[in-house]
Amino acid sequence: MNNHSKLAIIAIIIVIPVASFAVYSSDSSQRNITLETTKLQVISSFYPLHEFSQNIGKEKVDAVLLVPIGVEPHDWEPTIKDVQIMQVSDLIIINGIGFENWIDNLEENNFQGIIVDTSSGILINLDNENNNEIEDPHIWLNPVYAKIQVQNIANAFSNSDPKNQKYYQSNAEEYLEQLDLLDLKIRNELSSCTSDFIAFHDAFSYFAEEYDLNQHTIISSNDPHGEATAKTLENIISTARELNINIIFSEESVNPKTSQIIANEINGKVLVLSPLEVISEGTYISQMTKNLENLKEALC
Ligand SMILES: [Zn+2]
Repeated sequence: MNNHSKLAIIAIIIVIPVASFAVYSSDSSQRNITLETTKLQVISSFYPLHEFSQNIGKEKVDAVLLVPIGVEPHDWEPTIKDVQIMQVSDLIIINGIGFENWIDNLEENNFQGIIVDTSSGILINLDNENNNEIEDPHIWLNPVYAKIQVQNIANAFSNSDPKNQKYYQSNAEEYLEQLDLLDLKIRNELSSCTSDFIAFHDAFSYFAEEYDLNQHTIISSNDPHGEATAKTLENIISTARELNINIIFSEESVNPKTSQIIANEINGKVLVLSPLEVISEGTYISQMTKNLENLKEALC
């Protein structure tokens, strides 16, 4: 869909009278909206942010996950129902850095709620702004940046619901302590290991930077649906040979065949390194810990 027709669709949605929400909210979907509630209505764009919001807001917010479980968020677009839900929410929590490519359309169409860009305050080295490279949105995979995202969410909840400020901030502190422990564990356990690993798509740059690792990728763009060409496969196989790499990573939501082809060439093995984009089980911390275990098998 081009931007024009997206705009047209969102424009149509916005003139739908508010009365239609009553009809929608009476259906039994998991995204029930109770309009009379005094709880903050919070929508998070994808899984890690939803989990952060739940940990900070607990029973004082109604937290909704926008991109459904099992769906890959990179190229996802909201449906008409999704936009209706967004229109009656207090806060929309986004990753930012271009990850939610639908947000500009929402802003241009008189969205009344607050959009919380959790990347705010995270200073990343962007490439020369004159080139057209896509910015890298994968900040949540660096626990140090994830902590800033958590704090941004806690501050947004506190601003929108000041009487519960202490509650949100102390829940955030508790969660930040867990993230500190995770960060420390990754730092300690990878510190004396080798540094080159082959991820599936370009999701671990910030993670690699934080822990002094070198990410190589099978798919050269940061599009997880990208195809590996014969040329990229050939290149990554020779990289693996040069660097003595024997673990090739895949992701839980992609066909492991591509990684397996490379692993077969080098007599290696495929393991999962999850970008936590399509989460099916566990939590941010348990999935990141699993990533650490698999990285240790590859690097230590
Ligand atoms: Zn990604």
